[in-house]
Amino acid sequence: MNVTELTALLALASIALFVIGLKRLSRVRTARSGNALMAAGMLLAVLITLLEIGLVDYRWIIGGLALGAAIGVAIVVRAQATQMPEIVARFNGFGGAASALVALSLFWLEVVQTPSQATAASVLGGTAGTTLVLSVLIGSATLSGSILAELKLRGTLSGSPRIPGRTAVMGALLLAGLALGAVAVFGVEGAGLAAALVVGLVLASLLAGVVLVLPIGGADMPVVISLLNSLSGLAAAAAGFALTNQLLIIAGTIVGAAGLILTQIMCVAMNRSLVNVIAGSFGEGGDVEHGEYGHVVAADPESAAMVLEAAGSVIIVPGYGLAAARAQNAAHDLAKALIARGTEVRFAIHPVAGRMPGHMNVVLAEAEVPYELLFEMDVINAEFSSTDVAIVVGANDVVNPAANDTPGSPIAGMPILEVEHARQVFVIKRSLSPGYAGIKNELFERDHTAMLYGDAKQVLTELAAELQSAG
Ligand code: NDP
Repeated sequence: MNVTELTALLALASIALFVIGLKRLSRVRTARSGNALMAAGMLLAVLITLLEIGLVDYRWIIGGLALGAAIGVAIVVRAQATQMPEIVARFNGFGGAASALVALSLFWLEVVQTPSQATAASVLGGTAGTTLVLSVLIGSATLSGSILAELKLRGTLSGSPRIPGRTAVMGALLLAGLALGAVAVFGVEGAGLAAALVVGLVLASLLAGVVLVLPIGGADMPVVISLLNSLSGLAAAAAGFALTNQLLIIAGTIVGAAGLILTQIMCVAMNRSLVNVIAGSFGEGGDVEHGEYGHVVAADPESAAMVLEAAGSVIIVPGYGLAAARAQNAAHDLAKALIARGTEVRFAIHPVAGRMPGHMNVVLAEAEVPYELLFEMDVINAEFSSTDVAIVVGANDVVNPAANDTPGSPIAGMPILEVEHARQVFVIKRSLSPGYAGIKNELFERDHTAMLYGDAKQVLTELAAELQSAG
């Protein structure tokens, strides 16, 4: 077997690892191994590329690998589960930048450093020239958009300034970038002017990323990040075409498609269109109701525990506040205390609870809550009416009946967990503050709802302790 055959075979194995890994990501139980398989596929892809390149100075490559791995480990080790969307934003930015840099180095090596009086297209070929421009354009816009998205999620950058004529500005920037790239590749001979035009392409693309993300509210960033994830994949696929590297084309296309599907899932779960998200108006209007509540009943852990002692079935509904309070272990402890008493316990998972898809699955898996106790919204909604107690832990929008009852509400039509059908509802949160959508939640005013004010971890710990001391 020669090197070409060997690399083709290994490339097939790498692609198989990507595809199988992706499939396994769709189930909580298999997601970890899916992630590991995909990482192995990526490592294999890097090794194949090195094999293909042949004899080069490996010191740079090993140095780059070590530096990249060190940065990755340093970022992830210090991160908390609630910071995951920010980290994904940063990695998307890196992905976009890497693709743009690969395309730019091709241009540098083949056009700038190789003196000739021909156009870049005649040196590189028309397809490579075109996809090189696309990779630089999409990759650079992904980089600047992702940096802004991360800053917004962290709260470093607040506010969502309106940009007058934004759609036209963005269209103009993208067209300008494409035009500069097209002239650089097809229109001019010699390296100097072409290089200057490519710099213009990079700047226009970076600006387009800023105009895309700047006016979108921090609250919508998870959807934007998913979209940017898709774009980083497309940038990689375009770089793959420029380099005629099939592995990069396939990996990039998989990321692009997966990111787009995820974006669509998030939009559907919030009952909003992608256009509405990108328009950047959600929860930013300043006229959102900030909860003028009527009669709201408060309870304390001791009285709540007495109700729980008598309950035959309990559904725990985790939301963003559970992740923010890092209360997953406390929630599991409460579940164990209830199960030990013979109570049926289930966790209800809303697809957009928290701040990223699968957020609740991730934090509950971290606390080793058995998968059998987790139930998706479609399945569990029918169970609330026959359940004694629903305990809402730091969730707000995903249990807000306004989604069903109030046609003009920002969350109207969003499928929710219908906890109000349970016989008794306890809501654990620190105050009556609204959630992500910034609106009042009438669930809190229902006669059979009682608020357990406090930090989720603390209240859950107290509830479990009360149950245990009750024997
Ligand atoms: P929400 O953001 O609606 O509500 C979270 C609640 O948690 C707040 O009302 C807050 O109330 C409470 N909270 C915060 N910190 C704590 C704490 N330490 N202890 C106890 N409670 C706390 O969360 P949901 O999960 O219900 O809904 C998610 C929202 O995010 C939805 O609107 C969804 O559309 C949106 N979204 C989700 C995405 C995803 O992929 N998951 C993506 C994009 C948007 P208080 O301050 O009073 O404690």
